[in-house]
Amino acid sequence: MIIVGGGTAGWMAAAALSRFLNDGRRKIILVESDDIGTVGVGEATIPPIINFNQMLEINENEFLRATRGTFKLGIEFVNWGRVSDRYFHPFGTFGHDLHGISFHQLWLRAHRRGESGDLGKHSISTVAATMGRFARPGPEAKPPLREIFYAFHLDASLYARLLRSVAEKHGAQRCEGKIVKVRRHAESGDVEAVELEGGRLIAGDIFLDCSGFRGLLMGKTLNVDYEDWSHWLPTDRAIAVQTANVAPPVPYTRATAHGAGWQWRIPLQHRTGNGHVFSSRYMEEDAAHRILLDNLDGEPITEPRTLSFRTGMRSQAWSHNVVALGLSSGFLEPLESTSIHLIQNGIQRLLALFPDKPISPLERDEYNRGMRELYEDVRDFVILHYKATQRDDTEFWRYVRDMDVPETLARKMELWRLHARVFRENAELFSLPSWVAVMLGQNIWPENYDPMADSLDGAKVAEAMRDMRNRYADVAARLPTHAEFLRMSRAWADPVASAI
Ligand SMILES: Cc1cc2nc3c(=O)[nH]c(=O)nc-3n(C[C@H](O)[C@H](O)[C@H](O)COP(=O)(O)OP(=O)(O)OC[C@H]3O[C@@H](n4cnc5c(N)ncnc54)[C@H](O)[C@@H]3O)c2cc1C
Repeated sequence: MIIVGGGTAGWMAAAALSRFLNDGRRKIILVESDDIGTVGVGEATIPPIINFNQMLEINENEFLRATRGTFKLGIEFVNWGRVSDRYFHPFGTFGHDLHGISFHQLWLRAHRRGESGDLGKHSISTVAATMGRFARPGPEAKPPLREIFYAFHLDASLYARLLRSVAEKHGAQRCEGKIVKVRRHAESGDVEAVELEGGRLIAGDIFLDCSGFRGLLMGKTLNVDYEDWSHWLPTDRAIAVQTANVAPPVPYTRATAHGAGWQWRIPLQHRTGNGHVFSSRYMEEDAAHRILLDNLDGEPITEPRTLSFRTGMRSQAWSHNVVALGLSSGFLEPLESTSIHLIQNGIQRLLALFPDKPISPLERDEYNRGMRELYEDVRDFVILHYKATQRDDTEFWRYVRDMDVPETLARKMELWRLHARVFRENAELFSLPSWVAVMLGQNIWPENYDPMADSLDGAKVAEAMRDMRNRYADVAARLPTHAEFLRMSRAWADPVASAI
């Protein structure tokens, strides 16, 4: 099996496939070119990455040390519903359902009666993040500590290095070189070999296209279409810059909306990653550059770098004997930090459907069906952040506010507007609390709550909610600070830097 590309996608695939498929007979070769390099961004993740690391038997504290990583409890959104609005999309849940009735329905009823308290105060992850505190719930943890869900911020190049060591331990081989030609079978059209500069041929039975935006095999060789979703997600550029830390890292990502896009802030142990994602149709690069530099917490330590992208996905992620993973298979802008997860999901799905020879079209179709569903679910959730805005201060915000959205999202938003109902279909990635966080965080108020909520005694519900708030505040206040926790668990890489 040949893996083309050694970015996050290539090394994640090499590590997982060599761990599970290397039976001594199968050879896994990864080809990458130092001259071309990797995309060099992609530093915020979502909770399923914990399982990926576990699958590979990577110890979490060692992982954090190696990647100079930090914990992430969610994303703080600034200026999204309206300028100056602020809300938190936490991992984990809001409060507890009572007698089978969804917490958010009870909260909406209490809100109408003026008895609700802030929604975020009913989420342990939000409360802890706001206080800059963190603890990893152990297997024995009791609620509400058990309700803390987390992911990581990481240095992508260091993660690739760690994964490379795992992959090589399991027998994967790395080959340095620039692919200049791809050979296909005359009849089947399958890819047979890649040719490196200098003429070396590397042949294989299955090829993973992890070549990034180039899409060397999937796009350039097999000509698989790229479905363009930029009419729904019009950002197409990002300027990225790293800054020095000016304070201990907080356990969350921040996404601050600007006039034609938004800016990320991702705190690592040794530096902070920043980037301004914007639409070149609505903003000149110079202006985007200025906005980014005007909104940094610390001094830049790298030169700002511009990346171009087009939101969308390949119409097939698996074609012939080639499976595309990572940026070669599609890209949804990084607002909800989902790209690494899409890679992880693609790898796990490939392992679950790993083909014999000849490849069964049924297994290939199943892979493509599942990946499409996942991409479209994530797409809809990301579009929601733009559509659910009341901003009308720029042409960009007026466009996204007024645009038509995919029918699947329109239906979800309409159901929400009636009675705040959210139905999770199939294996949708984002669950109820995520939809609730963004809808309410961006002022999409339903006409009414679910009438079932009226079946409970209002005073008792208000009291139960007050208890939840008090317990969350009390428990969060007793957690260590995020930096203390990293140090205590020996996850901090550099004892000197930890003094900040
Ligand atoms: C602005 C931005 C922000 C992002 N933020 C996040 C985030 O916060 N969270 C998240 O999960 N994801 C994020 N992503 C996505 C994330 O960066 C990618 O999903 C991830 O890095 C995977 O990239 P890749 O491995 O597919 O491609 P790349 O990193 O581009 O790697 C491509 C590889 O292919 C090799 N290659 C290409 N052509 C050839 C050739 N001819 N011969 C030999 N080798 C070749 C290159 O050398 C390289 O090794 C972001 C992306 C962008 C653009």
